[in-house]
Amino acid sequence: MGRRFGPYGGAYVPETLVPALEELDRAWQSSRHDRAFRTELDRMSRTLGGRPTPLYFARNLTRRAGGAEIWLKREDLVHGGAHKFNNALGQGLLARRMGKPRLIAETGAGQHGVATAMIGAALGLETEVYMGEVDMERQRPNVDRMRLLGAKVHPVRTGSRTLKDAINAALRDWIANVRTTHYLLGSAVGPHPFPSLVADFQGVIGREIRRQSVRSFGRLPDLAVACVGGGSNAIGTFHPLLHTKVAFLGVEAGGSRSGGVGAASLSRGKPGILHGSFSYVLQDRDGQVADTESISAGLDYPGVGPEHAWLHDRGRARYIAVRDRDALRAFHWLAEEEGILPALEPSHAIFAAVGEARTRPSSDRIVVTLSGRGDKDLGVVLGASG
Ligand SMILES: *Cc1c(COP(=O)(O)O)cnc(C)c1O
Repeated sequence: MGRRFGPYGGAYVPETLVPALEELDRAWQSSRHDRAFRTELDRMSRTLGGRPTPLYFARNLTRRAGGAEIWLKREDLVHGGAHKFNNALGQGLLARRMGKPRLIAETGAGQHGVATAMIGAALGLETEVYMGEVDMERQRPNVDRMRLLGAKVHPVRTGSRTLKDAINAALRDWIANVRTTHYLLGSAVGPHPFPSLVADFQGVIGREIRRQSVRSFGRLPDLAVACVGGGSNAIGTFHPLLHTKVAFLGVEAGGSRSGGVGAASLSRGKPGILHGSFSYVLQDRDGQVADTESISAGLDYPGVGPEHAWLHDRGRARYIAVRDRDALRAFHWLAEEEGILPALEPSHAIFAAVGEARTRPSSDRIVVTLSGRGDKDLGVVLGASG
């Protein structure tokens, strides 16, 4: 069943995919100790991706909160405007290492599709992206971006014509073309080894935080905060700091309605199997996957990575849900106080971090991962406040 985090994780997939997952696991394991691979990953992270990203002291936001210092890990400055690049680059290089000339991906809001298309172009890999027809209409600019980057975008017309149907279509493609094709999964979810290798590639966030916080304020932070959709930017933030005294806060989407589930799988879901892995899943009373709802497309997913489930159960990380309107408030705070337009996903984390800062002394240090920039969300923000 593959690697587990306590009872969570595993690989619940059709028999035909097992060899591909094993091949991927071997390629990833061997790449970790391969100097040439790591050098190339590091070179492209710097020269194409713009890493390392800065750790920024949000002085005005700190003053507004009153309490602990708030520092921002600026993943919004990564190429493409979000942390998704880190994972797409790592997996793209793994695909090349396995001799697979073709990438497929599925995308909901289109952010992961764009990151995959960027990497496909840069590495010379053929790229095809599955996207629900409804999502294609809602996210037209990202469809245009993917096509301009040379990717083929396949509209998915089955079911609800959204992300979960796109995932099924991508899985069918993978089963049929597994010899030539790497399925570039976009978050720390899915069957083993995806949750672990995505955490490895996104771990660059936490490794940089470790170095930069010592350089900036002489020690590690007291608390690290990140938003959780599938959980990749959060596990990338937490993982390299797990064996320290740093406390962790994961922030899920609470949605618009009080008493609704939003997309808060850990806060409001229960254990179950989704997309090849055992973790927390939002379910209705019959155990069917529940309909999620969030102002931020990137957090709007009914599952969460298995490592988060285990951190949750052990109490090593705390998880809370922040509502749409509070994320919007935090969006405006960061825009007005710091001159940064954040994506709506990390706006959830900003809101939680400000709340935490208020309860802590000014000697405490909080690092928040600002997972992406907000240009993509201006329509939603203007619509909400208009
Ligand atoms: C996709 C996305 C997320 C959510 O994905 P995780 O895997 O939970 O990190 C968060 N922030 C931004 C900016 C995104 O694009």
